[in-house]
Amino acid sequence: MTSSFQKVRALTGMKDLLPDSSASWENLEATIRAWLASYGYRNMRTPVLEHTRLFTRGIGEVTDIVEKEMYSFNDALNDEHLTMRPEFTAGMVRATIEHNLLYDRPQRVYAMGPVFRHEKPQRGRYRQFHQIDVEALGFAGPDIDAELIVMLSRLWKLLGLNAIRLELNSLGQAEERAAHRAALVRHLEQHKSVLDEEALRRMHTNPLRVLDTKNPVMQSMADSAPRLYDFLGEQSLAHFQGVCDRLDDAGIPYTLNPRLVRGLDYYNLTVFEWVTDQLGAQGTVCGGGRYDGLIGLLGGRPAPAVGFAIGMERLLDLCEQQEAADSRPECDIYMVHQGEAAQRQCMRLAERLRDEGLRVIVHAGPGSFKAQFKRADNSGAHAAVVLGDSELESALASVKWLRDQDDKGQGQQEPVPFDQLATILKTRI
Ligand code: ATP
Ligand code: MG
Repeated sequence: MTSSFQKVRALTGMKDLLPDSSASWENLEATIRAWLASYGYRNMRTPVLEHTRLFTRGIGEVTDIVEKEMYSFNDALNDEHLTMRPEFTAGMVRATIEHNLLYDRPQRVYAMGPVFRHEKPQRGRYRQFHQIDVEALGFAGPDIDAELIVMLSRLWKLLGLNAIRLELNSLGQAEERAAHRAALVRHLEQHKSVLDEEALRRMHTNPLRVLDTKNPVMQSMADSAPRLYDFLGEQSLAHFQGVCDRLDDAGIPYTLNPRLVRGLDYYNLTVFEWVTDQLGAQGTVCGGGRYDGLIGLLGGRPAPAVGFAIGMERLLDLCEQQEAADSRPECDIYMVHQGEAAQRQCMRLAERLRDEGLRVIVHAGPGSFKAQFKRADNSGAHAAVVLGDSELESALASVKWLRDQDDKGQGQQEPVPFDQLATILKTRI
């Protein structure tokens, strides 16, 4: 008997984690817990559901998250507006206030788990995704901002990731932002004709975010806008310098990005992002910064705080790519030769192949053809390029395909004119 029940599928943008991939998640989580413990950060778990007003207040009304990304509903049983957490910080701060965690000391805490945002799903952007959220609550100095960044740099090292770079900015304090904001609104008004709809809507409510635009038409307007950095007072500059000095001490390179404002309303002073070019459009792996006003804003006794969130899916994607890159063969082409003239010609040809983006090893030192071919095989190269006396004479290199199983057949050798070498090799690699 067939059932009339219509099959149910997972929701768009929400993924199942199946047994074959769970090991990489569990390994990453274990590495992360040990890494956090090594800096004295302790775990906290807060509910997935919170009152909607926690987020509208804590994140800010005029933000992408609150304007259009929250999963909110009315719980008819209690007549309450509830929201699935779109990030951790607001809930962590609520719990800190509710349980008076800062009563006698600051706290280093973290949480890990799913968060929910109604976004257009694509690579690195899902509707349920996972964050590692780290918060240092009750600390005011630049030392703790730097601690968080140094700590992240250690995590990338632990995971063998080297293609992540740090972008840094300071948002100053509320008064400094107010002065800058007034100047910025004047600038936006002068350039009203190039502003898109969203920018026009936000220019009075959240003008700083207008600069965070990806619209090419607005770039030069954004580039010439007054910079917040020029409005920072002595104390804000000293705080920022304090962070930079400690990053220099730790040998961590960074780029100052005056356009970095982050998506949330509550940041002040230090803000940072770790970005990579290896994840396509969704290149931000981790974002964070200081939010000294948030605890007071949510009804607690005012206390400074700083934190960051890592996107787990993006981090795992990056780890997988790194693994694939690490297991890449040593080179694309291994050049085999006999005699000094052939060796010198190999060096010349290799430079041309590298100009075309190929990775080439020219055999160095002594070695019979047989020994050299063995090296070529072990290198994992796609092809060996062979030059001996006859090849020099004819100006035809012998290309031996080492890995292909296609119609040419593995081990097939073919003569290729020197000047066509790059073109022919590139079509097959
Ligand atoms: P983006 O500019 O990519 O939308 P964001 O500024 O909204 O990022 P944050 O709120 O700072 O992101 O969240 C911290 C991290 O969480 C991001 O750096 C990213 O790695 C990850 N993240 C954010 N949104 C998503 C999503 N929809 N799916 C997967 N990961 C995400
Ligand atoms: Mg976003």
